[in-house]
Amino acid sequence: MAKKALVLGGGGFIGSHMVNRLKMEGFWVRAVDLKYPLFSETNADDFIQGNLRDPLLCRDAIDQKFDEIYQFAADMGGAGFIFTGENDADIMQNSAMINLNVLEACLRRNSKRIFYSSSACMYPEYNQLDPANPNCEESSAYPANPDSEYGWEKLFSERLFLAYAKNHGFISRIARYHNIFGPEGTWQGGREKAPAAICRKIALAENQDIIEVWGDGKQTRSFLYIDECIEGTKKLMRSNCKLPINIGSEEMVSINQLVDMVAIIANKRITKNYILDAPQGVRGRNSDNTLIKKELGWAPENSLKSGLEKTYNWILEEINKEI
Ligand code: NAD
Repeated sequence: MAKKALVLGGGGFIGSHMVNRLKMEGFWVRAVDLKYPLFSETNADDFIQGNLRDPLLCRDAIDQKFDEIYQFAADMGGAGFIFTGENDADIMQNSAMINLNVLEACLRRNSKRIFYSSSACMYPEYNQLDPANPNCEESSAYPANPDSEYGWEKLFSERLFLAYAKNHGFISRIARYHNIFGPEGTWQGGREKAPAAICRKIALAENQDIIEVWGDGKQTRSFLYIDECIEGTKKLMRSNCKLPINIGSEEMVSINQLVDMVAIIANKRITKNYILDAPQGVRGRNSDNTLIKKELGWAPENSLKSGLEKTYNWILEEINKEI
């Protein structure tokens, strides 16, 4: 009998890649999402299109014991969605409600091995003020002070998954993802994140054009390619690691460097026009992989450049489809 997996948010970017990986491993997979994947057919054996804020839908979707449950469903986006303040109430209500419903439905079915996708956005702002020296060690999470309501909701939900582990015997595995990117991620429409937005702007630009860059370009981040994210997530799910852990890359770059890397891939000369009052988040952020190397013996293997090349080429293909 094939093992059974449930992927909540299986129509989204990370969720649909996870569905593909689980299928390759021989799982029977059910996915649940408000929408089907936007860029390819789902490979799930069963796809329930529905709203996980509805407790009855959750119970229908979690109608049996699954060997593995992955919880990716959330209201999320890039800086243009989560850092403007305009969507805060929706983000907190929608994502917290999903997590509350999902855990209760799992409890009813005694289906207790569950992965939760938290975010580096839960780290306190005071440790991310210096672009050259951010601190995102797992133990630095408290005293808490995320710079967005999105981050506060992630922190609340981490604690919710930990409480179900403590009180109800759940095997909760929690990753703090650091900027995941790659093909089939949102690349336009307002919810896209920096790598996809920059690839799109440069792909649409002519040689010698000017593109808009949010902020002064000196803010730092690291970016993890989707295949590495899926690999780390799988390893974490099947580990004994009980506490939230970073899944990210330690290859920190400034946004200026990110733009320059994409321009080289595109073989274009680009001038940057800095939009200083655009939403941008913390000044510096980088994954600290000390703990995950110790606990799982895992770290990403490939360079940012190799992931950017694949992502740029995919976005270029998507643009050409629209022309
Ligand atoms: P995504 O937006 O592509 O996927 C989330 C999916 O959840 C979407 O398909 C959406 O339709 C679905 N969803 C939202 N509300 C729902 C509801 N009420 N009922 C059913 N489905 C619903 O985002 P992603 O990049 O794949 O992220 C997956 C998870 O990882 C999210 O929880 C996100 O917060 C977290 N995360 C992602 C990143 C990143 O860089 N992509 C970084 C940190 C954390």
